Amino acid sequence: MKSQDVRKQFLDFFESKGHLIVPSAPIVLKDDPTLMFNNSGMAQFKEYFLGNATPKSNRIADTQKCLRVSGKHNDLEDVGFDTYHHTMFEMLGNWSFGDYFKEEALPWAWEFLTEVLKLDKDRLYVSVFEGNEAENVPFDQEAFDIWKQFVPEDRIILGNKKDNFWEMGDQGPCGPCSEIHIDLRTDEERAAVSGRSLVNADHPQVVEIWNNVFMEFNRKADGSLEKLPAQHVDTGMGFERLCMAMQNTTSNYDTDVFTPLIEKVEEITGLKYTSNEVKDISEEQNKTNIAIRVIVDHVRAVAFAIADGQLPSNTGAGYVIRRILRRAIRYGFTFLNTKEPFIFKLVAVLADQMGEFFPEIKKQQGLVTNVIREEETSFLRTLDQGLQLLDNVIATNQGKEVPGAKAFELYDTFGFPIDLTALILRERGFSLDEAGFDKAMQEQKSRSRAASEVSTDDWKILVEGNTETFVGYDQTESDAKIT
Ligand code: ATP
Ligand code: MG
Ligand code: MG
Ligand code: MG
Repeated sequence: MKSQDVRKQFLDFFESKGHLIVPSAPIVLKDDPTLMFNNSGMAQFKEYFLGNATPKSNRIADTQKCLRVSGKHNDLEDVGFDTYHHTMFEMLGNWSFGDYFKEEALPWAWEFLTEVLKLDKDRLYVSVFEGNEAENVPFDQEAFDIWKQFVPEDRIILGNKKDNFWEMGDQGPCGPCSEIHIDLRTDEERAAVSGRSLVNADHPQVVEIWNNVFMEFNRKADGSLEKLPAQHVDTGMGFERLCMAMQNTTSNYDTDVFTPLIEKVEEITGLKYTSNEVKDISEEQNKTNIAIRVIVDHVRAVAFAIADGQLPSNTGAGYVIRRILRRAIRYGFTFLNTKEPFIFKLVAVLADQMGEFFPEIKKQQGLVTNVIREEETSFLRTLDQGLQLLDNVIATNQGKEVPGAKAFELYDTFGFPIDLTALILRERGFSLDEAGFDKAMQEQKSRSRAASEVSTDDWKILVEGNTETFVGYDQTESDAKIT
């Protein structure tokens, strides 16, 4: 089943259960001081749960563009190194605002997965909150009893507060959740460990796909719980992971969400994406595979953020976007040997593929392409200069350890990323004095603090010991570094 159809099946199914289908909220949040990007389906409905606004319908379903690169949910460092965490992904969700509860939500989830999508029942595991006496929260007997009608008991896993209990904060709405995991191991692998209950922490191919949260209680200031007068359901399912299960692959990158992008990178670089096995980055072919995963993932995040109005910049959300793009450029530069801009060429592929469901990406295609190309051009120049300087450092270095202060100079003056310095040194048989680098960084921070009083509105004044130079009204060199 094509990814387009997977999405449509989900929305049609919940429409048939009386849900109003709404569009995704923008990925970038402009009016929420607590959150930079949408990182889950429920963010756009927060006010309904808090009772500050009334929804158009008490049953809603959608697919939400999410970004998990900052704050409480930050998956950035995993991206490329596993095959099922992305920066940007779609979260399919259904909601009940004071309407249906566990008795409907869990059987519907099961019906959708096993009857509509016809996923193999034997490969599904579910988890239920085990309870926590110290925190006054009971075992979720109701969810357990509902699941028992569908799932053998040895595949109902009891989960702890960290994984199976949701709370908005120290006070306010909270409740148990129940997750659904899918086992994508081969039959042989499964036979070898039969009878053993798994969740994805135990095996990389047993993957969480759907989380059902039941907002059942209100936590009061004294820590005690009371039943909420109106109970709510909030669910989130990883769209790309569901496509993986539906397309019989063991990696999100082998689904049609990613293969057109991967093929384009192969065409541009002449390299081949060969394997989803996640191994050490020190092997040559793994470097290629990891870099390709990073690039096809990151271009989606950056393209959708720009299409939703967040340009790369040096502050706030714009800086996060710039860093994601620079991470992609750096992986290409280092592991795919791409010395010319090329990521911008992926935007056309993305627009073709996603434009029907998300028209914003087609509408903004020109802008997105240009912005990415310009960012690539300027950061590649930085990388190139830095590399030459690093060659000089290596040629004149005494011994096999490069002083931290030298690496800091490259970082501070030219924006050359420290992890890239470390990597290149390692490849050439040198090591980096990391403690020296950290010390130089600390010293620079105290110098900038001391110097910050002498800036006027538009011009930054260069004072002794402060490396900041004026490069434009909205950009200073020391802000432009990536860390
Ligand atoms: P995981 O444990 O795999 O990190 P999670 O528990 O953090 O997932 P939830 O917050 O429960 O995820 O989000 C609901 C669903 O969204 C998950 O069940 C998963 O299918 C999907 N999901 C979460 N994070 C990502 C991500 N970084 N990339 C792709 N899908 C994701
Ligand atoms: Mg997570
Ligand atoms: Mg989880
Ligand atoms: Mg979860």
